[in-house]
Amino acid sequence: MSEKQRRCPICGRAVESGAPEFPFCSPRCRTRDLANWASGIYRVPVKPDQDEDDGS
Ligand SMILES: [Zn+2]
Repeated sequence: MSEKQRRCPICGRAVESGAPEFPFCSPRCRTRDLANWASGIYRVPVKPDQDEDDGS
């Protein structure tokens, strides 16, 4: 196995090191990776805000 070829982290396809979207095989996979990354960031724990003081 040579190091000239790597695999797209998204779809696992072989990618040439000179590919424009390296290390992704296509712009589509690059976008998908970005989306994964973003969804990880935006996935904030939502805590119910029901801790209001309802009088006393
Ligand atoms: Zn891919």
